[in-house]
Amino acid sequence: MSDNCIFCGAPATQPITLKETFTAQPLLQPGNKACNRCTTYYNDPKYRRKNWYSTNGQDFNQIKDVLQFLQDMPPPPFVLYTTINWKKHGWILSVQNTILNHDKFILICDDQKIYFNRTFFNKLLTDLEPIWQKGVIKKFLTVGYPPAGIIRKYALTREECQLLESYKQHPLWHFIIAFKKRDKQQEESENKDE
Ligand SMILES: [Zn+2]
Repeated sequence: MSDNCIFCGAPATQPITLKETFTAQPLLQPGNKACNRCTTYYNDPKYRRKNWYSTNGQDFNQIKDVLQFLQDMPPPPFVLYTTINWKKHGWILSVQNTILNHDKFILICDDQKIYFNRTFFNKLLTDLEPIWQKGVIKKFLTVGYPPAGIIRKYALTREECQLLESYKQHPLWHFIIAFKKRDKQQEESENKDE
């Protein structure tokens, strides 16, 4: 049997028994041991239910505003995990993809790997802002060219509609929309619309 952690691949001594409900086997490496860090991550639900980063495997730093964090990150290396559905064991991908470079890295969101390129990320944020300011609700930001009624309602320009069309295929765009926040009042009226 391997003496490496089934989660991250680091040398490991302690045996681990997975629960029967565990469904992320395809993410694992063969073996039956885990390192201390990953044993903690496996057993504590906060590592799959929160957005967080850790610089040394001991510190747990919750991230309140993910997009803000991505614009102002601590010095690498660190492990970063983000989640929209709060229950998958995507942190396993995070420990396998330590961030070594601020500008280009594999961004983990749940069990999805998204290629992060800072230049492109900044462009997406910049392009989103004027559309966002018009109050377009989230579900019309990820479906491509908006329907005529929506274009009228939010006074979208042709150029803005074309951006929406071209970005709908980019996972990083979907990621940004998912984590973009409005103030409370706007959010409430948005929910009413749906
Ligand atoms: Zn490990």
